Amino acid sequence: MENGGLAELHVDRGVDRGYVGNVYLGRVVRVLPGMQAAFVDIGLDRAAFLYVGDIWPQMFDKQGGGGGNDDDEDPGVDEDAVEADEDGPPREAPRPGQPNIQDLLKEGQEIVVQVAKDPIGTKGARVTTHVTLPGRYLVFMPTVDHVGISRRIAKDRERRRLREFVDKNRPKGGGFIVRTVCATQTNITLKQDMNYLVGIWEKICGAAEGRKAPAPLHLDHGLVLRMVRDSFHDDVERMVVDSPKLYEEVCAFMEEFSPELKEKVHLYRGAEPIFDTFGVETEINRSLGRRVWLKSGGYLVIDQTEALVSIDVNSGKFVGQGNSLEDTTVRVNLEAVKEVVYQLRLRNIGGIIIIDFIDMDRESNRDKVYRALEEELKKDRARTNVLKISEFGLVQMTRKRVQEDVVRYLSETCPVCEGKGSVRSRQTVCYDVFRELQREAARAVAKETLFVNVHPSVADLLYGDEYPVLEAVEARLGKRVVVRPLLHLHVEKYEVYSK
Ligand SMILES: [Zn+2]
Repeated sequence: MENGGLAELHVDRGVDRGYVGNVYLGRVVRVLPGMQAAFVDIGLDRAAFLYVGDIWPQMFDKQGGGGGNDDDEDPGVDEDAVEADEDGPPREAPRPGQPNIQDLLKEGQEIVVQVAKDPIGTKGARVTTHVTLPGRYLVFMPTVDHVGISRRIAKDRERRRLREFVDKNRPKGGGFIVRTVCATQTNITLKQDMNYLVGIWEKICGAAEGRKAPAPLHLDHGLVLRMVRDSFHDDVERMVVDSPKLYEEVCAFMEEFSPELKEKVHLYRGAEPIFDTFGVETEINRSLGRRVWLKSGGYLVIDQTEALVSIDVNSGKFVGQGNSLEDTTVRVNLEAVKEVVYQLRLRNIGGIIIIDFIDMDRESNRDKVYRALEEELKKDRARTNVLKISEFGLVQMTRKRVQEDVVRYLSETCPVCEGKGSVRSRQTVCYDVFRELQREAARAVAKETLFVNVHPSVADLLYGDEYPVLEAVEARLGKRVVVRPLLHLHVEKYEVYSK
């Protein structure tokens, strides 16, 4: 929560927690030269997907042994990308001169991989051979010979201190990303974090030697400890936990890594649900809706499609005209900027996002809204990329996300419309029924009566507005039609029969 309001929502229900960050000894089950990718069995329901761009020459494979840096080949870390994103190095984009997948992997080969993206729907997990191990202050990359410093550490002197210290102390062939929080930490603290992470990697390598694929080698913390590790620093006022067991776990973690922050952890003992006490419940409900209201009376409409998420900004009732119309528009757009970024974080929306602001005549105003969006996005820890606002008032942006988004996690496809968001109108169903009656009449020439089972709301229409048409159908077919309302029928479904 920030300033008393919900800022981000992360959900983990234990049974189906994500796999991102876990390290496995996997077996290559198929190499797909056409796609420059491979399927790797890591012991999950579906084989994981490994793209050639995610295979690093120095990867750990059991034949080659421990991730050693035998050749001088540069792994080609994109310095800017690493530093722009303190969560890890880039995982996409094959580099020119990249070897073919069939030269790197063969079926049956055992390799160490880390899950980069959770399985979503029918897609298997996405894995990389490039293991990154996040610590409290640093991120360890055992197979990348590189030290990256978070761009958000601005002071040159501090950057130099950190780079020199980490460079001097890192293991041969391995690298680190120095997170923003390092700026206030002593060398001793950093060294502890480095030792801790190198220790984890040694355990992983040891486990890989002794096991047969597929096997888990290292499971990342559950959500709560991961959040604590990554986000619980000086700037956090307090942490409230309503599970005595988790409370103990968090305290033990803080004891080990940041004892000075331990007193900020509180056990919640209230009678009402913790989400009610802190107003989280109402915000969750708001974040599941398609329409989100703004204080000015405007609103956002958020739609998720397979390809992208569209956010439409609406003014509601305009109050101005002429010059003041443009002013009102800008005001609503600026208000929308804050809510859009809030919703992006809260829903954890990823991929391509299109924001349709209300049209503004003046370029200076479009610039103003665009700059406000850029500014507001600084609050977002996820990596985003925003293109300039177009003349139609459209903004195209991308947002990087590894976990599934919250709305999808908390929802399932509507069983009535199966996700279309609309069903055949009742009137359309009536006319489907009329045509089916005609077919049935042709099949059952000898029968005098035809029966129709429909949803009660369709039956209402057949005996209401559409009754004259029904009568005409009866007259034309020379048969009686009996309509039966059945509550359990889907609105779009009907049964026509004779007996
Ligand atoms: Zn529906």
